[in-house]
Amino acid sequence: MDRDRQPPQPAVRPFVGVHMKCCHVYVRVYRNAAGDAYVGWCPRCAAQVRLEIVPEGGSRERFFEAS
Ligand SMILES: [Zn+2]
Repeated sequence: MDRDRQPPQPAVRPFVGVHMKCCHVYVRVYRNAAGDAYVGWCPRCAAQVRLEIVPEGGSRERFFEAS
């Protein structure tokens, strides 16, 4: 079994949608350079949102909420 094989990286940076509850705005959060988390900021109050990326067994959700 090729459990360690990674799928080809897409040409565009992956992102997830995050609803910032602090300001009730929706933002796209892009994957960081290290590829271990999605990192972004609230456009209104600059609160940081960070979503850790887990290789396996993680959430399959594409949308999140941040407080
Ligand atoms: Zn905010």
